[in-house]
Amino acid sequence: MELLGKNKQELRAYCQSLGEPAYRGAQLYHALYAERNLDLASMTNLPAALRAKLASYAKVTLPQVKQKYLSADGSVRYLFGLSAPEEQSRMKAAAVEAVFMPSEGRQTICISTQAGCAVDCQFCLTAQLGLIRNLTAGEILAQVLLPLIEMSRPDTSPAEEVAEENALAARTNVVLMGQGEPLLNFENTFAALRILLDKEGVGLSPKHVTLSTSGVVPGIERMAKEVVRPKLAISLNASNDEQRDMLMPINRKYPLKDLLAACRKYPLRNWEHLTFEYVMLGGVNDAPEDARRVVKLLAPLKRVKVNLIPWNPGELPFKESKEARLEEFRRILAERGVPAFVRYSRGRDVMAACGQLALKEVSSPQLTVLS
Ligand code: SF4
Repeated sequence: MELLGKNKQELRAYCQSLGEPAYRGAQLYHALYAERNLDLASMTNLPAALRAKLASYAKVTLPQVKQKYLSADGSVRYLFGLSAPEEQSRMKAAAVEAVFMPSEGRQTICISTQAGCAVDCQFCLTAQLGLIRNLTAGEILAQVLLPLIEMSRPDTSPAEEVAEENALAARTNVVLMGQGEPLLNFENTFAALRILLDKEGVGLSPKHVTLSTSGVVPGIERMAKEVVRPKLAISLNASNDEQRDMLMPINRKYPLKDLLAACRKYPLRNWEHLTFEYVMLGGVNDAPEDARRVVKLLAPLKRVKVNLIPWNPGELPFKESKEARLEEFRRILAERGVPAFVRYSRGRDVMAACGQLALKEVSSPQLTVLS
C-alpha cells in the first residue's frame, strides 16, 4: 500500500485494517506530513511492532530526482521520474518537472499536476507533449516535500530539522502552474491540497498557494464550493474570443462570457484577489486596444489584479513585446483602476520559465547539473 498522498481518514482506516487502533493512523499522518519523515523505519512515534508491519505491507514512494538544473538566477528546475503507481497498473511511468525559486525572505515552488497537458495552449511547450497522465495526490505532494526536505540543513538533529522545515514551509509559496491543467485532475489535486493546507499536515497557508487554470469553467464552479482551497488565478492571455480561440483552444468550449460569469460568481475570501495572468505576445495581444478591452472585460469583477508576463522567446513562433509596449499596456490598466504588475519569469536559462516545462534537456553554459 502506497502511503504518500493518503489523508488522515485513509491512514486511520489502513491502520485498523492492520489490526491497530485508528489513532495510529493520525500518528502516521503527523509523521509523514507535519514532520516530513518519509522513512517508515525511523518513525519512532509508532511502536516497533507497527513499524515492522508497515515495513512488510506499506511503502512511501518518492519521485526519483533524475536531474536538477541550477539557473544563473538561483532557481532550481527538478526533473522527476515517476514510476507507474502499483495500485493503478494501467498508469504509465512518466517524468515531470517542478521549479524551486528562492528570493529574499521567501521562496516559491512551482509544481505540476499532470504529466504533459491536453489543453493545447499555443504559447506553451508542455502542450506539445499531449496528456501523458494525471499525477497521483502523492506525486503532487512530493514536489513540495522534496525541496523542503532538501533545503533544511542535513547536519542538524531531527527535531531541529523539523523546526527548520516548518520555518521554511511558513516562508514558502506554492503555485500550481507547472505541467498540466490542475482542474482537469481535480480529485488528486485537491486531495494533495487538503494535506498541504492542513495545519496538522504540511501546514501551508491558503494565502500562499495559488492554483492557475486555463479557464475550465466547471472546475472553477466546483472549486468555489471547496471548504479548503488555494487562491485562484486565471490564465487570460487575450482580450477577445477570436484571439483566445486561437491562443487557447479551450476557449471554444468555455468562451470568455462563461469564464467571466464563473469569475463573477466566485466567492472571494475577504483577504483574496482574483489574479489574471496575461502572457504578452508581441504583435498578437499587446496593443493598447487589447489593454482597453481587458479593462472592459474585468470591469464587472471585484478585487482583481493582472500579472503581465513577458514572453520567453524560444522554439515557438511568438515574439517578445517591446518594453515600451509592455509599460503602456500596464499603464492603461492601472490608470483605469485595474492593478497590473510585470512579472518576469525565473529560470529562463534552464527552461524553467513559464510555458517552458516540456522535459527538454538543456545545455546552457550557465547551467549546473547538480545530480
Ligand atoms: S499553459 Fe497550462 S493549460 Fe495551457 S497547455 Fe500549457 S500546461 Fe496546459
